[in-house]
Amino acid sequence: MAIQSVRGFNDLLGEELARFRRASSVVRSVLERHNFEEILLPVVEYAELFQRSIGEITDIVQKEMFLFKDRKGRLLALRPEGTAGAVRAFLEHKFYAERPYTKLFYEGPMFRYERPQSGRYRQFHQIGAELFGVAEPSADAEIISVVYELLKELEIDSVIEINSLGCKECRPPYREALKEFLAQKEEHLCKDCLGRKDRNPLRVLDCKEKSCKLAVSDAPKMVDYLCDSCKEHYSQLKELLTHINIPFRENFNLVRGLDYYTRTVFEAVSDSLGITVVAGGRYDYLVQELGGPPTPALGFAVGVERLALLLKDIPKPKELYVVIPFGDVLPYALKVAKALRSKGKRVEFSYRRGGLRKQLDFANRLGAKYAVIIGEDEAKEGVVSLKDMDSGEQKKVKI
Ligand code: ATP
Ligand code: MG
Repeated sequence: MAIQSVRGFNDLLGEELARFRRASSVVRSVLERHNFEEILLPVVEYAELFQRSIGEITDIVQKEMFLFKDRKGRLLALRPEGTAGAVRAFLEHKFYAERPYTKLFYEGPMFRYERPQSGRYRQFHQIGAELFGVAEPSADAEIISVVYELLKELEIDSVIEINSLGCKECRPPYREALKEFLAQKEEHLCKDCLGRKDRNPLRVLDCKEKSCKLAVSDAPKMVDYLCDSCKEHYSQLKELLTHINIPFRENFNLVRGLDYYTRTVFEAVSDSLGITVVAGGRYDYLVQELGGPPTPALGFAVGVERLALLLKDIPKPKELYVVIPFGDVLPYALKVAKALRSKGKRVEFSYRRGGLRKQLDFANRLGAKYAVIIGEDEAKEGVVSLKDMDSGEQKKVKI
């Protein structure tokens, strides 16, 4: 049997790829005009980086990572996300010492051992942005505004949801309250949630199982437990978003699937498809936890395949010209093709000669908009016969 691609690892081609490229290029241009600088991160990192940043009791670390040992027995991982690597690079290159604050973006494939379905793959692509060094809520508003702009530019219908997860001061008491609440709901929780309700109760709020979702619908809310400074941060953020006309909706059960978040978390959700396309938040302790100086930071990641799925207009490829040499005109015809290409046209050449009919058929099959017919007369006069393949109209023109 012929070898097939690995489950969850897909080829991207044709129209799907065109959508993917358009999504990617719009996101990149929005990031570039907000002065984020690109960093090309490696696909492989030490597994420990993810265990320490994302957190041991998370789905990603417990069951979704692609792990392998190198020849020296060191445990490596295919990156499941980009923030951990960006923080690692931020520390490794000592950006914290050189810049008052740092704005980076990255793009590339991520890997998670998940059950493949529409919009969920084992290799998928993210573009992520990270802003290091700013604690003020203006940075949160700016980051959310970047997300809003890229969604608007791509004309993607979605809603931005926000929540606050508090800090080292106010989260522990909330955690206890949530634990007590969950202890009363045991019979409604799935097997996974029973396992994590004591060790990582916030994770239960993120569970996608129906019965768990229902069970936590009246759970205690982090916003009711925020300390004064977190409360102030959150209300300033909401005020700023309102001032700059960014619509949002509060979702008090929004916690995100990674442990490093503090204070602001947000997602852009497509209500029509019920999937999250962009997700992010603040992670004020992560840089320090990975060995750096205390550095507040925040960021987001977009799922490029999911954006592509939601794009309405498909970018059309440039119209195609097919150059058809007819008779003893090969050098002239090749020159014409070259001249058209130098003008930025997309040009195919009819390499396999034959009767004019046959070559026009060939141009048709390729989906040509124009056939550029070159017979001996045209070559002599220094012109071409340009045939519009839709209307059939043909006229001699100078190149
Ligand atoms: P979900 O809740 O859908 O599992 P997540 O919380 O695991 O998403 P993040 O880790 O925050 O997602 O990743 C950010 C974005 O990356 C998601 O909003 C989504 O658009 C995309 N993404 C995550 N996992 C996948 C996947 N397996 N396939 C395709 N895109 C994905
Ligand atoms: Mg996930």
